[in-house]
Amino acid sequence: MNSIAKRIAEMNARVASAKEQNLYFYLQAIEKLDGPWVTVGGKRMLIFASYSYLGLLGHPKINAAAKAAIERYGTGTHGVRVLAGTLPLHRELEERIAAFKRAEAAIVYSSGYVTNLTTVSSLVGRNDVVICDKLNHASIVDGCLLSRAKFLRFEHNNMKELERILTSVDPAKSKLVVADAVFSMDGDIINLPELSRLCKKYGAMLMIDEAHSLGVLGKTGRGIEEHFGLEGVIDVKMGTLSKCIPSVGGYIAGSKELITYLQHTSRAFVFSAALPPAAAAAAKAALEVIEEEPGRLEALQRNVKLFIAGLQERGFNTLNSQTPIVPIITVDEDKAMLMTRLLQDVNIFMLPVVPPAVPVGTSRLRANVTAVHSEADIELALDASARAGKAIGVIP
Ligand code: PMP
Repeated sequence: MNSIAKRIAEMNARVASAKEQNLYFYLQAIEKLDGPWVTVGGKRMLIFASYSYLGLLGHPKINAAAKAAIERYGTGTHGVRVLAGTLPLHRELEERIAAFKRAEAAIVYSSGYVTNLTTVSSLVGRNDVVICDKLNHASIVDGCLLSRAKFLRFEHNNMKELERILTSVDPAKSKLVVADAVFSMDGDIINLPELSRLCKKYGAMLMIDEAHSLGVLGKTGRGIEEHFGLEGVIDVKMGTLSKCIPSVGGYIAGSKELITYLQHTSRAFVFSAALPPAAAAAAKAALEVIEEEPGRLEALQRNVKLFIAGLQERGFNTLNSQTPIVPIITVDEDKAMLMTRLLQDVNIFMLPVVPPAVPVGTSRLRANVTAVHSEADIELALDASARAGKAIGVIP
């Protein structure tokens, strides 16, 4: 068997084995949505696996905006943004994002993944250096590889190691430092004060991915700069429109010069179709709702504290999470699968994350708490997790 066929066969065997043991949890269809309750396989379950952190998915104002956009513009565009694909809606969305992120301008792409891929590879090239946190999202890693810049990585959130790398790089080289604001598997927050200080000291440009901090961090949900009271330290502010914002797409906010550059050089903008009208309208309306309904963010931030404290009181290791992404470490892959089975059997919809998505020995359930969970919902999930964790020896 050649190695490509072998790779395909091995993954198929792994999937088939999990399915045989009734331990395959991926690709389950969500049939119905009702706040934090979903219907999966005909069963009503309490979901702790949603990116809709503020509970905006299904919001009437956002749905209405998407419907109106379809009525007015149809379901697609005439092509790429630089040719006939730009609608007034795209401009309005970009202005809204720029205002929300307190930046001069913004550009939107058709996914968050593509935004990272195209932005990193447009900003740096063969003669430059790109420096990443080791736990950065795959889309950033792929952008770095595509760029052909020298690709260096520092231990997760370790600013001493970042400084060592920055001092070791030829000062004549252009440097871009990239990190997630909130890490998508661990739920912890990058040390922005130190990171931005080092970037300034060593003349590096700073790009931060706010996929999981937009609408989540800061007093008004503006993200990590607001969280730390450090307005304006990030040069390239990246985010997605697919998590807290219940749409699809990604954006970069920054200076007018940066956005003009990306509009004319980033290949995903120049060579790929525009965001569909319904998606653009939904994203724009969602940003308005975040400002109009501040109670959602208050509820989210309260629930995050309740949920993490409750898990820790019951003896679980939740790493350094301080956000709605809460890892429940099981260490072993088998235990992550079994604990998920026990929870789904009592209608708590959590999902396991295992290698290669996370390092070996750090398998986990990746629980997400949202603004629409009630205290009773959280208690239910905590008690079910404790029973499942005890049954399989994750906690004593
Ligand atoms: N960055 C991070 C940190 C993410 O977690 C994700 C999605 N999981 C992305 C980028 C990609 O975003 P999208 O799903 O909108 O393509």
